[in-house]
Amino acid sequence: MAADKLAVTRTTFDEVILPVFSPAQFVPVKGKGSRVWDQAGKEYIDFSGGIAVTALGHCHPALVAALKSQGETLWHTSNVFTNEPALRLASKLTAATFADRVFFANSGAEANEAAFKLARYYAAKRHSPYKSKIIAFHNAFHGRTLFTVSVGGQPKYSDGFGPKPADIVHVPFNDLDAVKAVIDDHTCAIVVEPIQGEGGITPATPEFMQGLRQLCDEYQALLVLDEVQSGMGRSGKLFAYEYYGVSPDILTTAKALGGGFPISAMLTTRDIASVMSPGVHGTTYGGNPLACAVAEAALDIINTEAVLHGVETRRQQFVSALQDLDAKWDLFSDIRGKGLLIGAALKSQYAGKMSDILQAAAAEGVMLLTAGTGVIRFAPSLVIEPADIAEGMTRFAAAVGTVLAA
Ligand SMILES: *Cc1c(COP(=O)(O)O)cnc(C)c1O
Repeated sequence: MAADKLAVTRTTFDEVILPVFSPAQFVPVKGKGSRVWDQAGKEYIDFSGGIAVTALGHCHPALVAALKSQGETLWHTSNVFTNEPALRLASKLTAATFADRVFFANSGAEANEAAFKLARYYAAKRHSPYKSKIIAFHNAFHGRTLFTVSVGGQPKYSDGFGPKPADIVHVPFNDLDAVKAVIDDHTCAIVVEPIQGEGGITPATPEFMQGLRQLCDEYQALLVLDEVQSGMGRSGKLFAYEYYGVSPDILTTAKALGGGFPISAMLTTRDIASVMSPGVHGTTYGGNPLACAVAEAALDIINTEAVLHGVETRRQQFVSALQDLDAKWDLFSDIRGKGLLIGAALKSQYAGKMSDILQAAAAEGVMLLTAGTGVIRFAPSLVIEPADIAEGMTRFAAAVGTVLAA
């Protein structure tokens, strides 16, 4: 017998969920491609992509097939036993990137936690236990465990939880001189997002990224790229580092990796990986066959010319619609980002209208995100239909009109 379906609504959220989120007033119940329906049957165009996660839209047939097939075969083994989907996915990730070794986890924060621990451990083993300084950036976001939130560059997210992990220094993003002023022989790693996501959709400049690589080489520090949001095709390349002509030492990815099934990965080189040994780090679920089977199906589709090229043409469609809107309302101070990670920064006189715009957008039937302060973020499916982009931007324009004409 099927379990009883309790009647639940948005009000139930306030009664049973820890109040660390404030979700929209509607509750999505179904998705297909870039369309979503709520409890009332109202339809939305999804420009949020579950925060850059559902890179192939909702319920992509190939992902559903992989999930069903693996779901009827083997769900979980733990890492006491390895499994075929994990081995296949790791083989494909290493073949497609700079990396030779993969550690699987379940969230972006966990992949970053592993990366930061590896950077510290490597420095301690190869150099000195005092080589522990991590250089990170203002407005960076690396997750919500105490270590990752402390490396992140927004103290309001890490304050109030007691003593923080030590020896982490924050400097302004895209400011190479600021990094030069703090880097020294005690630095084990520089941690950076090639495109700051939560911080406001700000790409690193090529000079900055190349300068960081040089400084890491000079001081024998590791360059750790957090591609949890920018990775897996989001930028129009499989990983955003490919734009910069630099190779990282450690890279983390998550969000789009499983297309909506929770999974993350930390990639590194053979040499760096060689300092680790059984028992030094671990996870129960990481590399779970179900997650890896879905991620393998997602990678097979995303890592193709057709999808990666399509990202750039779709970006152009978004940007030109945003420019039209700007021509009409003089709304944006900047339209930025890379690929289908797009930030539209509201002019300062409109910054206070953000929540009105998001609410009006939901009312018109389009799902959007914000990033940083005053930035509207678009992180849709990488294969969103051009007709869905057009319809969603029409709805967004109507929402803007309602708010600004009021
Ligand atoms: C979302 C995000 C994280 C955290 O990922 P979780 O899966 O929420 O733990 C870390 N880094 C970046 C750049 C992100 O965008």
